[in-house]
Amino acid sequence: MDGTEKKVSSAQVVIVGGGIIGTAAARELSRYKLDVLLLEKEPEVGWGTTKANSGIVHGGFHEEEGTLKAKYCFPGNQMYPKLCEELNVCFVQNGILMVGRTPEEMETVRQYYERGKRRGVNVKLLSREELLRQEPSLSPEIAGGLYAPEGGAVMPFELAAALMENAAQNGARYKVNAEVINAWYDRDSGKKYLETGEEIIAADYIVNAAGLFSDDLARMFGDDYFSIRPRKGEEYIFDLSVKDLVKSTIFPVPGQVSKGILVIPTAAGNLMMGPTGDDVEDKEDLGTSLDGFQRVLAGARSLVPSLDPRKIIAQFAGVRAASDRGDFIVELSPNVPGLLHLAGIESPGLTAAPAIAADVPRLLAEAGLELEAKEDFQPRREGVVRFSTLSRAEQDELIRKDPSFGRIICRCESITEGEIVDAIRRGARTLDGIKFRARAGAGRCQGGFCQPLIAQIISRELGIPVTEVTKAGPGSEVVISKAKELYHGEVQGA
Ligand SMILES: Cc1cc2nc3c(=O)[nH]c(=O)nc-3n(C[C@H](O)[C@H](O)[C@H](O)COP(=O)(O)OP(=O)(O)OC[C@H]3O[C@@H](n4cnc5c(N)ncnc54)[C@H](O)[C@@H]3O)c2cc1C
Repeated sequence: MDGTEKKVSSAQVVIVGGGIIGTAAARELSRYKLDVLLLEKEPEVGWGTTKANSGIVHGGFHEEEGTLKAKYCFPGNQMYPKLCEELNVCFVQNGILMVGRTPEEMETVRQYYERGKRRGVNVKLLSREELLRQEPSLSPEIAGGLYAPEGGAVMPFELAAALMENAAQNGARYKVNAEVINAWYDRDSGKKYLETGEEIIAADYIVNAAGLFSDDLARMFGDDYFSIRPRKGEEYIFDLSVKDLVKSTIFPVPGQVSKGILVIPTAAGNLMMGPTGDDVEDKEDLGTSLDGFQRVLAGARSLVPSLDPRKIIAQFAGVRAASDRGDFIVELSPNVPGLLHLAGIESPGLTAAPAIAADVPRLLAEAGLELEAKEDFQPRREGVVRFSTLSRAEQDELIRKDPSFGRIICRCESITEGEIVDAIRRGARTLDGIKFRARAGAGRCQGGFCQPLIAQIISRELGIPVTEVTKAGPGSEVVISKAKELYHGEVQGA
């Protein structure tokens, strides 16, 4: 066994992976008197598939009967309003439309309507005229559709960060830059061990929420009975000038492998189109392509013909952790007592996350974990100030208390220095972290103007040289090579 010279620590329950599933599980477990530790390999939580998806809280009518996706999606949807209210994060309940173009597609739309009704989803059928009245930018070729008003949108990264923050408020611990590189089970003691670069952690219970790498973690414990088949999705974001083109998320009738190319009003206010659904070999293949772009544009324009590609300001790809079962895997290991797999959580995993997480204490109790509820569990998290959304009087008051809210750093999104400092205090460590949490750098210029200023603020707040500030963790330093030498020279000579 490697790494025996490493420090050994322990925790009752260790969650591997700080995506939406791991952080939601951490919050649920923090309701009980337990020692909970979450390990995340990236510099911040929420940086896996959770940061690179469509952000839709699905309606709950898509999923096939009898699947775990169906079991968890609609209940998850129903939990969102309260969850986001408690955590003070943005949830926009803008509804979901599935539209049909031909009589055959309309027949499929009706089947989804019946499925939704059977499940208790609030769904209604709309005629072509009703649809076009509701969404005048839709293609005139559309024949009708299904409307689910309780679908919505969130900022997934914001939610994962808030879940972790609230779990930590309630006593859960978490470590970032803590990749599990080895794991094993000691049958004699019943303990499970997780090795990171720094330490070995002995755990009584383990929650495998490692997303794309959940099969790799399972295999470390000898569970090789499922595997992850990565499926990439490319997405394209428009600037705010077209934000009002549609109100609801527009779905076509689904294809064989995915829900199709959508037009998505995001919770941040931008319109987005995507995603593709392409099987890939590499779990970390996050590249976008001309071919992907063309397919996305064609698909989105068949729903909303006036979409103008010149208004696109950013693109990204996320990789779905599809399992070889074609469904979520939410189960205790048949081989290692106390090991719970939350794997294969592809779409609609964001929507299902609160419902999956709510099941975690029950599943671990089945494996012997004793649950004693905390009387002082605090479900509420203090919200983040969004300066640009405040009234003039509120802005003045805030600036009087803290003048850093009077300094605009990101001009495109009107983000102040005060908001950036708050993001750092809540855990942001990188330029991307600031972008995801505070939206500084997420606007038209994509950080061209504000990144050097943000790098200086990170440097000042964390007490590190600006040459150590990264875009997204080690290897992505923003002041490099000659500039770095010059900068050091300047600093040393100053
Ligand atoms: C393009 C696209 C669009 C989507 N759109 C939607 C949508 O609109 N609505 C919806 O409901 N769902 C959507 N999904 C699905 C949703 O994004 C996922 O179901 C969800 O994010 C999965 O969360 P997770 O926590 O399981 O995985 P992740 O977010 O990937 O989290 C796993 C975490 O584990 C960490 N990790 C991995 N290995 C280790 C290790 N060895 N040690 C420590 N940490 C480790 C990773 O760094 C990562 O942070 C979409 C997915 C994609 C790709």
